Amino acid sequence: MNHQFEAARRCLETSRQVVFMGGAGVSTASGIPDFRGAAGLYTQASGSRLTPEVILSHGFFVHHPDEFYAFLRESLYFPEAKPNAAHFALADLENRGKLKALITQNIDGLHQQAGSRVVFELHGSLNRFYCTRCRAAFPAEQVYHQKTTPRCDACGGLVRPDVILYGEQLDPQVLNASAAAVRQADCLIVGGSSLVVHPAAGLLDHFRGDCLLIINREPTPYDSRADFVFHGDIAEVLTELSTV
Ligand code: NAD
Repeated sequence: MNHQFEAARRCLETSRQVVFMGGAGVSTASGIPDFRGAAGLYTQASGSRLTPEVILSHGFFVHHPDEFYAFLRESLYFPEAKPNAAHFALADLENRGKLKALITQNIDGLHQQAGSRVVFELHGSLNRFYCTRCRAAFPAEQVYHQKTTPRCDACGGLVRPDVILYGEQLDPQVLNASAAAVRQADCLIVGGSSLVVHPAAGLLDHFRGDCLLIINREPTPYDSRADFVFHGDIAEVLTELSTV
């Protein structure tokens, strides 16, 4: 094991208030493609007319709900996906009392499935849907199993996923709670994120602790600020780091 790895592990061992912030790269080993990674949806969609960023925008959802839902079912719905070693390593760190909060940009619910409890979903969840008119909850299974755009059983309003679409504001309560957790952390681990989506990436600016650790396959704009950078697989690095 190299020197940098040993030092990072020591840092994690001595920290008392660890916070993790992650993105789509945490779930690629579960079979869910990320957006900007080598095999991500942006690469897959490079020949098509519309980018995922356009389709997943508020305006597109309102004006083209049928196309929006077709994309959701085809490219973002992974009912077979199960948590991978990265999710389990983080749940284990929380169980051991080390990890105090987990902030995720993911909308797949896999951290909760792995057993994590203190999870801040910055971008919401694709496991929850509600009516845009009367706000009634709508069952996710029904959305994914029907072929048409879902409409509220009670009032006929358009049903939407409980996710933050491009062009929408993050929930201020979730964002503030996440920023507070980062401010209180003595060790911040950031992983599986290109760190180009804001305001999520800006949460790193709140960190005042001693140990910033970045784990990502590719370089990120924040690498130069980190105490430790690992350009590798998040599941492998997290598992190694957290094994005592
Ligand atoms: P991103 O696609 O911009 O970046 C993912 C990063 O993870 C890339 O830099 C890639 O190199 C890296 N990566 C991929 N697999 C990895 C692995 N196994 N180990 C280490 N690094 C790995 O994703 P982002 O930064 O989260 O932001 C994009 C948006 O994508 C978010 O808003 C999120 O809501 C959405 N998204 C979520 C999911 C999901 O819920 N699983 C999937 C795709 C996109």
